[in-house]
Order: sequence, then C-alpha cells, then structure tokens
Amino acid sequence: MKLMKSIAYLAAFVCLAAPAQAGWVRRVNDGIMGTRITVELWADDETQADPAIDAVLEEMRHIDESMSTYKPTSEVSLVNAKAADGPMRISKELFDLLTIAKEYSVITDGAFDITYASVGYMYDFRKHIHPDEAQIGQALPAVNFRHVLLDPKNQTVQFSQKGVRIDLGGIAKGYSVDRGIEILKARGFTRAYLSAGGDSRIIGDRFGKPWMVGIRDPRKGAGEVITRIPLVDAAISTSGDYERYFEENGVRYHHIIDPRTGYSASKVRSATVIGPYATRTDGLSKTAFVLGPEKAMEIYNRIDDIDAIIVKLDGTVIYSKGIEPARGLAPAK
Ligand code: ADP
Ligand code: MG
Repeated sequence: MKLMKSIAYLAAFVCLAAPAQAGWVRRVNDGIMGTRITVELWADDETQADPAIDAVLEEMRHIDESMSTYKPTSEVSLVNAKAADGPMRISKELFDLLTIAKEYSVITDGAFDITYASVGYMYDFRKHIHPDEAQIGQALPAVNFRHVLLDPKNQTVQFSQKGVRIDLGGIAKGYSVDRGIEILKARGFTRAYLSAGGDSRIIGDRFGKPWMVGIRDPRKGAGEVITRIPLVDAAISTSGDYERYFEENGVRYHHIIDPRTGYSASKVRSATVIGPYATRTDGLSKTAFVLGPEKAMEIYNRIDDIDAIIVKLDGTVIYSKGIEPARGLAPAK
C-alpha cells in the first residue's frame, strides 16, 4: 500500500516536472452547419488545445441549433413561423445578429438581405429545384429587410407582413467564426486560424510570418488558387457561384439570390472580402454578386477597414485600393 502511494506520488511528480509540449495543433470537422470547420492553433501546452477546440465546436453547434432553417425547432424557424403574428421576444444573441444584418442591408444598398429567404426557401440546389416566374412574383413583395421590425427595448422581432421569412445563411458562419475566435482568445491563445466553409479568421501570426490564405479559382478545382493573401489578425470570406449550383436550359442557379428579382445573382464569379471580423466579411461578400463588380468595389473601398478581390464574369480579377499595392507580396502562382 505504501509502495503504491509512493508510486502515485512519483507519477504526479513526473507529470508536474515534465515540460509542457508546445506545438501547432490542427483539427478538421465535417458536420456542423453543413460545412467543413478547420481549427489550427499554436499551443504552449498541447494538452490545452483539445479542450479549447472542443469548446469552439460546441459553440458552433449551438449557433447551428438556434439559427439553422433546416432545423424546425431552431429559434430562427420559430421566428419564421410566428413573427408575422405579432412581436416575438427572442434571445439577445439572435436579436443582436438581426440588428447587424439590417445594418449590412443598409450599407450594401439592400444587396445583403436576410429576407431573401421569402423567395429563397423555394430553391433546393441539391435537388435542382427552383420556383417558377409566378411563384417568384407572388413571393417577392415579402423580400425587404424593412419588413423585419426590431424593438431593442423589449428585445422583440416582428414581421410587418405575412410571407416574410429570414435566413441567416449569409452571415451565421462568419458569426460563428468570430465567436470561436473569442473563445480561443479568452483561453489565452494568441496564434490561431479558424474557418467554417468560406469564412475564416486569424489571430496573430506564424512566428514572424503571416498566415497565407489561398483564394480559390472559381472555375478550377478546390486546390487551384488565383492568389495567396498574407494575413495577420484578420478575417476573410469568399463567396462563389460554384458553391451550390445547378444549370438548367443554360441558366446557372446558385445560392446567392438577388433580393430585387428573386433569381440567382450572377454578376461576378467570386468575391473575397477581408476585414477585422468574419461576421462582417461574410455579410459583405454577397454584395458583388447582386450589385456587380464596380458598384460593389465602390462600397468596399468606401469602408475603411475592408478590402476585396473580385473575379469578374470574364475571369479578370480586380482588387480594392488597400490591396493593389501589396499584391506584389503574393504573386499569383
Ligand atoms: P457559404 O454559405 O458557403 O458561407 P456565402 O457566404 O456565399 O456561402 O453565403 C451564401 C448564403 O447566403 C446562401 O446559401 C444563403 O443562405 C444566403 N444568401 C443568399 N442570398 C442572400 C442575400 N441576397 N442576402 C443575404 N444572404 C443571402
Ligand atoms: Mg459565408
């Protein structure tokens, strides 16, 4: 017994005395929010990496549970079912995100609009289903971010008319990335990369070197990039017309909807937005598809901390003011 005890003490001592293993830890998860989540971080003590990554994924699961329109019990689904009947009290988290979504609608001249779903719910890109002209015409009046009435005092949402639906698919991944990064920061991590599908955010650098984030060539395979951008402490989102789409009678139906027409917005092939927060870069990356490259670039250039790279329909690439001079750092390969 005595011997057992001393062995236990010895083991504890060895544990304490062993220097913490430091290193890069990377984990890829498929299955939350219907997308691939990648976490990579530097851990001074590797045993702290796994619990931190678990916490990040748990937060993303929670956001999916409350915001997915694929889940009939999510808070957003309940809002869609009931908010036309009267003011409905919602969580602070959802209320704040709806407030931000409305701000982006204003900034983007209505190109970003979560009520796109009033028409958008009739599309199923996996099953190659799209609404016909009559269905779109009937549903289109419900598409307008102004139909979403938010009362900060009572923390309620109300739809001003029947038929309005919202979907946070254009902002929730970026938001979840920001939440995940906050969790990592709170646990003391200072070098990390977190991505959910096309939305990523980075904290810190790679010991004196920037993180290099590739921007995919919209008409080539997933590994082919048009350029690599060096990033430190930044978020980056790419939207592409190649993500979820099908073609029928020469028309390309894909998952970004023009709120003014109810049809797919096809004015660019891809748009990448770089900024401080992934919620913001996600919200802004849809704009170019709806407004076209020139008008969208005007908006991106107007916002101080935003940069953008747009692949136009003819395949040419345009850069925002802040990036053009720095491009030499990352020549296209
Ligand atoms: P991902 O879903 O891979 O992050 P995007 O960031 O490009 O891709 O977002 C596309 C999603 O945005 C669509 O699947 C849809 O849920 C939503 N969406 C489509 N059109 C609009 C729009 N005009 N305004 C806001 N959100 C939109
Ligand atoms: Mg996105």
